[in-house]
Amino acid sequence: MEGQKGGLQTRAGGRNRGGQAKGSRRVVETFGPEETFALGERIGRESLPGQVYTLIGDLGVGKTVFTQGVAAGLGITEPVSSPTFTIVQIYEEGRLPFYHFDVYRIGDVQEMEEIGYEDCFYGEGVSLVEWADLIEELLPEHYCRIVIEKDWEKGFDYRRITLEEI
Ligand code: ADP
Ligand code: MG
Repeated sequence: MEGQKGGLQTRAGGRNRGGQAKGSRRVVETFGPEETFALGERIGRESLPGQVYTLIGDLGVGKTVFTQGVAAGLGITEPVSSPTFTIVQIYEEGRLPFYHFDVYRIGDVQEMEEIGYEDCFYGEGVSLVEWADLIEELLPEHYCRIVIEKDWEKGFDYRRITLEEI
């Protein structure tokens, strides 16, 4: 229900904090890593406190490239890679705190509770969750689901990036 969870008061019915209508969907095609980076960068620049992005896609599809763009767009200059030994990596030097989750190796959703994921999802920063389908039940009511896919027929460097407001 709207406004039930902490920190959701600023959300209006059917819209997330970005003001995008729930259910809206757009597809962006990129033809090289720099274009995927640039899309991430734009999202980082436009993102608002409390926004949650999920990132789905096979290994090597460009999730890290995209995430590095988001970080750059938030004004983060330190290097961003996938959090290998921790579930979440926190960057605080940008315009907003950036919470980069990689839940690929998670054993149990309990681990998310232990690291205090709610303070990230319902806080004032921007969360990005790689492999979010593994923790689907913990995702907030509204988030932006980003799927990156290859299409071999369109070339080695082609990616189709679908952004959907959930
Ligand atoms: P993931 O994090 O999803 O495992 P990475 O971002 O680490 O993937 O790697 C993506 C690889 O694909 C990089 O080597 C990158 O240069 C390459 N690549 C080629 N074309 C693209 C594209 N359009 N968008 C993103 N990455 C691309
Ligand atoms: Mg990666």
